[in-house]
Amino acid sequence: MECIFCKIVNKELPSEIVYEDDEILAFKDINPKAPVHVLIISKKHIGSVNELKKEDKDLIGNLILVAKNMAEKTEINKIGYKLCFNVGKGAGQMVNHLHLHLLGGWTESVPKHNI
Ligand code: 5GP
Ligand code: ZN
Repeated sequence: MECIFCKIVNKELPSEIVYEDDEILAFKDINPKAPVHVLIISKKHIGSVNELKKEDKDLIGNLILVAKNMAEKTEINKIGYKLCFNVGKGAGQMVNHLHLHLLGGWTESVPKHNI
């Protein structure tokens, strides 16, 4: 299997896991673009938002709820945070396994384009 995020899900590659359940894994981004940068991913391999099907709607909702809970846990919700899906190469998607970026923890001005 070539997909690095599938390897992280299967614990074949190390990562700093901050949340895990049956369908979702959240771990720290290896190259953070914000003081707090967590990737929330589906354990099932889905390439991107482009491949989502109607039956994935609960999964997507749950990804966002996990992000919200992580924002509370790290207290970045007090100032504010960004949630982002990059979709496709042209938008900067480097890893073709669905992931939601949670970015925050700034103390002063908030960068407008930080991914
Ligand atoms: P994308 O550009 O695809 O939306 O975001 C991919 C993200 O995954 C990047 O922010 C990158 O730093 C992160 N990333 C890439 N490879 C690894 C890895 O092996 N481990 C972790 N923890 N993050 C990774
Ligand atoms: Zn994958």
